[in-house]
Amino acid sequence: MKTISILGSTGSIGTQTLEVVRANEDFRVSALAAGSNVDLLEAQVREFKPAVACAFSEEAALDLRSRVADLPVHVVGGMEGLIEAAVEPTADTVLTAVVGMVGIRPTMAAIQEGKDIALANKETLVTAGHLIIPLAEENGVHILPVDSEHSAIFQCLEGNRENRISRILLTASGGPFRGRKREELAGVQVEDALKHPNWSMGRKITIDSATMVNKGLEVMEARWLFGVELDQIEVVVQPQSVIHSMVEFEDGAVIAQLGTPDMKLPIQYALTWPKRRFLSGKRLDFRSLSGLTFETPDPENFPGLALAMKAARAGGSLPTVFNAANEWAVARFLDRRLSYFGITDCIQAAMEAHKMQNSPDVPAILEAEKETRDFLECHF
Ligand code: NDP
Ligand code: MG
Repeated sequence: MKTISILGSTGSIGTQTLEVVRANEDFRVSALAAGSNVDLLEAQVREFKPAVACAFSEEAALDLRSRVADLPVHVVGGMEGLIEAAVEPTADTVLTAVVGMVGIRPTMAAIQEGKDIALANKETLVTAGHLIIPLAEENGVHILPVDSEHSAIFQCLEGNRENRISRILLTASGGPFRGRKREELAGVQVEDALKHPNWSMGRKITIDSATMVNKGLEVMEARWLFGVELDQIEVVVQPQSVIHSMVEFEDGAVIAQLGTPDMKLPIQYALTWPKRRFLSGKRLDFRSLSGLTFETPDPENFPGLALAMKAARAGGSLPTVFNAANEWAVARFLDRRLSYFGITDCIQAAMEAHKMQNSPDVPAILEAEKETRDFLECHF
């Protein structure tokens, strides 16, 4: 029996996780948490019967409480509620699929309760990896990656834990704007940026893929998950999204994980690890593959990746500023109140204005986030 709490259950990863739960008879759901989508959350509560349900928005929590009054579910709201969902006692694993660094506190609370983390919520590791990784070690919990590239790397490392990694080859699709030059990108609209060529995902990460900020966040995520130096992580553009990432060992051998672009595989693997199970869906057909191609990233036309590397190298509170500025700017872009290049302009300006702090604790991380948002409200 596997008992799972899902934070972000109404989103792209959350709903696919529930599909995986439906297909596995021995999986149970102990808690569900979302932001404000009460209609879907109510339907999920009725189907999966968790002990705890959280709507982050207090108004939505009130609404949900009256809607499910006929069920024995404890309905909670706000950050306290999200933490309550994360520490629900019967869960052995918490799948974190909220979007943004709002995941920091519930993730840490779950680790302190000894729960394994199936981690999709990369922003949490980017901003607080220096706290989360040691906390997980201290509490003897596993952090199992759900992000497809990191799941691929994790799979390549199975059976190779004792061997020295020489490089991690983190693949990127290049997003909808791959190959375009700055002048061609200046006027792109929300609709253009939301058309990802290979993956169907939530809106924020789809924009992050269009700017290549996502790959920058993933470099930082990989560094924490696999304990490697930044110089050992190389981003390789693989436009077909067939190779999900690779690891090169010290003898020069490269091990890769391949598959169709389906997030249910990394989600299920994080929940069944170290075992694999049957998963329905398309299989790779090598006879119909037109080819596998590789390119190097283009930092000139996609400054998001270069800014991420700068934040990653500096460390301390700078990754938080990078991430918080991006979260703020992407929300504005989605609201059509900021241009496409406005996103990376915001990140750059916020990073330049910030006074770096080494090894920030949680209050300092949240303070750096607030400072970043206040700065951008004033200047953009
Ligand atoms: P979505 O936007 O589709 O879903 C986000 C989920 O988080 C929703 O359930 C949303 O609830 C919930 N949520 C938002 N804010 C809060 C809050 N304050 N408290 C509680 N719940 C909240 O995002 P994705 O599923 O695409 O992405 C989730 C995470 O996984 C991100 O960190 C992303 O980078 C990562 N990821 C996603 C991939 C994908 O394929 N989608 C691939 C790899 C990583 P509501 O619906 O009520 O707003
Ligand atoms: Mg990814």
